Amino acid sequence: MQDKPTITLHPAASPARLAPNGKHFFIWTIGCQMNEADSAKIAAMLQEVGYQPTDREDDADIVVLNSCVVRQAAEDKVAGKLNSLMRLKRAKPEVPVVLTGCMVTNQQAALQQRFPHVDLFFNPSDFGQLERVVPELADLDDDLADLPHYYLPDSPDSAGITAFVPIIYGCNFLCSYCIVPYRRGKERSRPLAEIVAEVGHLVGRGVREVTLLGQTVNAYGHDLAEKPGLADLLGAIDAIPGLERLRFLTSHPNYMSNDIIDAMAELESVCEHMNLPVQAGDDDVLRRMRRKYSRDYWRDRIAYTRARMPGATIATDIIVGFPGETEAQFQQTYDLLDEVRCDKVHLAMYSPRPGTLSARWEDDIPHHEKQRRHQALETLQEHHCTDRNAKRLHDTVEVLVEGMAKGRWTGRTRGNTLVHFADERRVLGKLVAVTITETSPWFLIGKPAGPVR
Ligand code: SAH
Ligand code: SF4
Repeated sequence: MQDKPTITLHPAASPARLAPNGKHFFIWTIGCQMNEADSAKIAAMLQEVGYQPTDREDDADIVVLNSCVVRQAAEDKVAGKLNSLMRLKRAKPEVPVVLTGCMVTNQQAALQQRFPHVDLFFNPSDFGQLERVVPELADLDDDLADLPHYYLPDSPDSAGITAFVPIIYGCNFLCSYCIVPYRRGKERSRPLAEIVAEVGHLVGRGVREVTLLGQTVNAYGHDLAEKPGLADLLGAIDAIPGLERLRFLTSHPNYMSNDIIDAMAELESVCEHMNLPVQAGDDDVLRRMRRKYSRDYWRDRIAYTRARMPGATIATDIIVGFPGETEAQFQQTYDLLDEVRCDKVHLAMYSPRPGTLSARWEDDIPHHEKQRRHQALETLQEHHCTDRNAKRLHDTVEVLVEGMAKGRWTGRTRGNTLVHFADERRVLGKLVAVTITETSPWFLIGKPAGPVR
């Protein structure tokens, strides 16, 4: 799963179901899409009871921080943000400050000591806890536990265009560098019917693209009585009328079976875009990472995907500077990426996480060397993306428009490439055919080429 360094403020303004009560909430989110989904649900719950969003914490009647600890840099940002809130808390002691996300799990006592100005700590997705600082939530008609995970206010112009839907929580792998299983627990799949109903609910409110989420999204279903697989779930969701695009992330190579790839190829709504982290291109490093597959196995999964879907785009995650990674082993990663030519590579420098297996090993690659390896892969990727995008010049692609930036509409192709274009029409949330007139490594620019739908 991509743990983006981006920080998001939630959500775009949208009217609440209950009349506004004059109160405002401020939500700050860092980390993976699971956190994005949790924050969206918290925002929706608060709007249900009359709160409105604000992007100024000084105007808020409640402040929620959603944290990530996958790398030290993320943890430091959360600590910095928490410390900066002390001033607000001194000036307005009645405003509750809430911390959720991976920083919280099993750490509440220590966090309470370190950040005494925080009023409530709650584990990821344990939304019922919010009632302790927002008593109005007890008045929600529905039992909180029964609310769809991603819950949108029932208002015609508030629906999002895209939505994240968690389908499996936790992770049963124990990759030696990763803190996620310690903070998110064992894999728990949501019932298939519940997910299908939730996606139906979202589509009914205007959502056109859904991304199914899990740390190991393609392990979906193995813990359920009827053992549905991700392919079954994709089929059931694809049958929902009105859903244009369906994606899923993040997949583990070991669970990326032919039947899932076949379903991607055959189901109309499922986008031809695969997120399959390899982490390293050297078998010895993969073994020490406890990844449980080889370089060739990952390469074979990509080859099968491309054989079934010639235009498929591929994203992957890489960690550079893992303990003991030699220059030759790093070169293996470089060569693998040079051969496979992914469309997107999420690069991370290794960061030891207390409590994980690899944190017991010496973090022996100096920071400047990690940076050099990171830069080398970034440069390689830039070359690949420059070449790939240049070939799209004059192509006409279908773009789902998600917003506007600097006077141009912005959206993505089915393959997840960013496209910007100018159009006099109001095309937010529409699918638009766009002819590409300019390319760059990271996005395409174009002009509308036909009617919208
Ligand atoms: N479940 C996903 C990844 C979840 S964590 C998978 O199996 O790939 C998101 C990304 O953060 C990982 O893919 C990895 O590249 C990075 N990451 C996780 N732990 C890290 C660490 N200790 N140091 C650096 N990067 C790390
Ligand atoms: Fe972490 Fe590995 Fe689980 Fe991904 S599969 S969340 S990297 S332990």
